[in-house]
Amino acid sequence: MDENSLLNLARKYETPLYVYDTEKIISQYTKFVSAFSKVKKLKINYAVKALSNINILKVFNNLKSGLDTVSIQEVKLGLLAGFNPKDIIYTPNCVSLKEIEDVAKLGVQINIDNLSILELFGQKHPKTPVCIRINPHIMAGGNSKISVGHIDSKFGISIHQIPHIKRVIQNTGMHINGIHMHTGSDILDIDTFLRAAEILFNVTKEFKNIDFIDFGSGFKVPYKEGDISTNIEELGKKLSLRFNQFCKEYGKDITLMFEPGKYLVSDAGHFLTKVNVVKQTTSTVFAGIDSGFNHLIRPMLYDSYHHIKNISNPTGRERFYSVVGYICETDTFAINRRINEISEDDILAFSNAGAYCFSMASNYNSRYKPAEVMIYKGKDFLIRKRETINDILNNQEEHII
Ligand SMILES: *Cc1c(COP(=O)(O)O)cnc(C)c1O
Repeated sequence: MDENSLLNLARKYETPLYVYDTEKIISQYTKFVSAFSKVKKLKINYAVKALSNINILKVFNNLKSGLDTVSIQEVKLGLLAGFNPKDIIYTPNCVSLKEIEDVAKLGVQINIDNLSILELFGQKHPKTPVCIRINPHIMAGGNSKISVGHIDSKFGISIHQIPHIKRVIQNTGMHINGIHMHTGSDILDIDTFLRAAEILFNVTKEFKNIDFIDFGSGFKVPYKEGDISTNIEELGKKLSLRFNQFCKEYGKDITLMFEPGKYLVSDAGHFLTKVNVVKQTTSTVFAGIDSGFNHLIRPMLYDSYHHIKNISNPTGRERFYSVVGYICETDTFAINRRINEISEDDILAFSNAGAYCFSMASNYNSRYKPAEVMIYKGKDFLIRKRETINDILNNQEEHII
């Protein structure tokens, strides 16, 4: 997406606006699949929570992708988008047995990540095959809030608890059909991944009739210059070789699964905002925009970096700005960032705004959520209208007070 087409979209739909380029999503998906072309049975399940607009889900359905879901609501969205329940895996954490049972009734693959629910579910539904989420205790690095495979994590059943799992299976007669891990959103290197894979292979050998091994996600994409990104081709080459060898050892063509979110949609997203105020204080020049952490919380939540470009003045002289939002508390997108000279009413474009941006947006400060536009086959489609005051009042019950 070049600056001019983004500027035109900002004019046409106004700001704040999320724009998603489906061509980029398709090329990332294709790259991922190609990296594992040597594996006989491969299944990619797009992680819905990264970006869950129903039109984006339909794009993945057209690609023959499956879905990775973490709530019954995501499952329902997937079904409404046209997915076959068999192509959806449900990987919740700390949800009720009732929700898991409701999802199982929809025909979706259940993935259980704790022993107590595994036992309760197995007792009541011994005929429903279940995948188990294993915690391989690999510290994958990155921000501690998004690494979930370490020993103290709330996710998964510890590899040290395999004997407990086997006892539950014996007592309930339930069938384990898949082994899963998701070591968090920041796997830095391929060797770490391969190490975790060996752990999963060993776990798989403990069970008789496994249909799939799901290696989760955690694949990195660059957010700023010099960032490491997962070399998916190299991972594909190395893991495929080892996976095929493992299938031989196991005596069965197991399905190899992944569930990337960020890798597939991050770079496809652009967030367009307008500069309301340029404010010079004694030490800083602030660019205050028509948005805030209610629309894009990652910088405030994870200290994430998003590249910000002044697409209204792309060749202007670079100066230092702190880009801040309009929320009434600390609301900072960037501190002392070099950006082409900013004037009021300029349009600033945030990169990597596809994953965990709109999907984490809220109505804090009673602000409207941004509109969303999708570029599909060269055309722009409004896929979420701008909100109105009725959206803020929706579900509020007004009483005579
Ligand atoms: C969030 C999540 C993913 C996707 O992670 P990314 O880093 O966006 O690729 C995959 N699987 C599970 C279980 C998740 O919770």
